[in-house]
Amino acid sequence: MSFLNYHKNESLMFNGHDSEAIPVGLTQYVMHYLYGANEPSLVKIAKSQLDGVEEATTEKERQKKLDTFSMMSGSSLTKDLPHGIAMSRNAAKNLMDFVYYVEGARGARIAVGPCICQLGLKKYFGGRTEPEIKDITLFYGADIYLDLGMGFKEITADEAKDILDEMHDRGHVHQALYMYEEPRGLFVMCNCDREICSTIRGTVLTGNDVVGKGPEICVHDKSKCLGVEKCGKCIERCPFEVNKADGDEILFDQSRCMGCELCVTTCEGKARTLEIREDYKYEHILSKTLLLAGKYGYGGIEPYEK
Ligand code: SF4
Ligand code: SF4
Ligand code: SF4
Repeated sequence: MSFLNYHKNESLMFNGHDSEAIPVGLTQYVMHYLYGANEPSLVKIAKSQLDGVEEATTEKERQKKLDTFSMMSGSSLTKDLPHGIAMSRNAAKNLMDFVYYVEGARGARIAVGPCICQLGLKKYFGGRTEPEIKDITLFYGADIYLDLGMGFKEITADEAKDILDEMHDRGHVHQALYMYEEPRGLFVMCNCDREICSTIRGTVLTGNDVVGKGPEICVHDKSKCLGVEKCGKCIERCPFEVNKADGDEILFDQSRCMGCELCVTTCEGKARTLEIREDYKYEHILSKTLLLAGKYGYGGIEPYEK
């Protein structure tokens, strides 16, 4: 087992443009390395729990399994394991620019590799026989996954942004994952599909924020909506099942919207827009001013200059 990529006092995270760098210690690096090495097995455990909920034959059994999953995903035992924040494509791209902005002097510190959930479950899509290459690891996460040798390779921020575009078009949710409830634990920008991702499945099944709500929220303009018969795209496009048909009308439950933007970019009637979420809960992990840079009057991220 090698830890060749551990950079003492150099594996850093910043919560915003002007914040202090937060060093990642060797213990954190080793713990995360061990998590990464066991991730394919952990993914199987989460899947079997969620399958159990879906396959339950009585309401009592279903509720019992749901309670177990909710307890596990929200307990102090799992608080040091990855949690995610969903976000729009623009916010995800800002994060790529930001990593490059602070890390550009010694390489982008961004790496991409196979979706570990697809890899662990051996479940692929669209006629593929291999996982999609879409786990964009960041900061010390890039160091670790390059070290683990699972097929990760270093990429630039621009290459990462191209991947985000492609994944958004495929209907995947951009989700920044962090450990330890702290910004120093931010390690990957995942692009999750609803079939596989246990956090999306868990959010839909439990109604809890297993995926954290991002810094933006979708607004639905009824007067512009074309209706279910002529369109109805948002029902299919939303992985969190926030949109439902009521006759020809769309019922939109804004309280459950994650702000992933997927319905916004495909809305035929331009009835969907994003706005700032007032009760964003993850300011201590990723600040709004960073994620929403260049939007809503926030300043942009300056490009790194060599
Ligand atoms: S992209 Fe989503 S589904 Fe794939 S490894 Fe990351 S969390 Fe799992
Ligand atoms: S995608 Fe837009 S226009 Fe189409 S049904 Fe949904 S809100 Fe209405
Ligand atoms: S309603 Fe739109 S923005 Fe909200 S979670 Fe669904 S797809 Fe994402």
